[in-house]
Amino acid sequence: MTTVIRFSSLGDIVLAGAVTGQLGEVSFRTLPRYRELALRLPGVVRVLDPGEPAVGGRVIDLHNNLRSRQYRADVRVSRQDWRRRARVWFKASPAEPVVTRYGRAAGVEPSAPPWLPPVERGSRLVLAPGAAHATKRWPYWRELARAWDGPVIAVGGPGEEGIVTELGGVAEAGFERTLEAMQGGAVLVAGDTGLLHLGAAVGLPVVGLFGPTTSDDGFYCYGDRGRAVELPLACRPCSRFGGPTCPVGDHACLREIHPDQVLSAVRSLV
Ligand code: SF4
Repeated sequence: MTTVIRFSSLGDIVLAGAVTGQLGEVSFRTLPRYRELALRLPGVVRVLDPGEPAVGGRVIDLHNNLRSRQYRADVRVSRQDWRRRARVWFKASPAEPVVTRYGRAAGVEPSAPPWLPPVERGSRLVLAPGAAHATKRWPYWRELARAWDGPVIAVGGPGEEGIVTELGGVAEAGFERTLEAMQGGAVLVAGDTGLLHLGAAVGLPVVGLFGPTTSDDGFYCYGDRGRAVELPLACRPCSRFGGPTCPVGDHACLREIHPDQVLSAVRSLV
């Protein structure tokens, strides 16, 4: 039995699916709110809460933070935090893709998605309009929904009820209902958020809208199965995670991405 440690967050746990399937039977140690997700990752037969005793065998720490370092591990992932900071501060070269670092820590070749049971494909445009940080929120979801000549559904989390309900979805719906909403999806459109990775993990083609962060900063890894829409602005990336306000004041990185541009990225995938 191999134990994999990754406490959060949604996207990082989804991306762990690139390696768990190559490790035999896996115990996955994570926060209780990610239990359902972790149980669906390939190879995972058991989920351990933070307080549960270890099960023995090899331990791979894919988090490598203060909390995870309290547990014994045979190997810990390279975080490359300083490289990511240098990317923001000095526009240095990007960090290695997360799945590459996960693969190196686990000693396996990362697999391509889907990493979760695939959804049935259909004609629905699936939108994930929310983001924890304001600068990661694209302003034209309503226009995109109106321009799509088919059914639309939105998915989101706590605090995103307004826009998600307006676009015909259910926010704070829980993991199961979010997956249900993705059934019949043609393409998922999202900002640089965990739902982008969840959509790809269940086999949907994805369009990722990148503003204060960039698609080459390690998390976006979908090649021909996705499109990254982003603008070549000198101020990008201005943050590793997004922030409350645009440092230069105009939020051009996302405000200048027009719905037509996103729609043509969507159409190129269907
Ligand atoms: S416009 Fe530039 S500075 Fe402003 S949020 Fe976007 S990337 Fe950051």
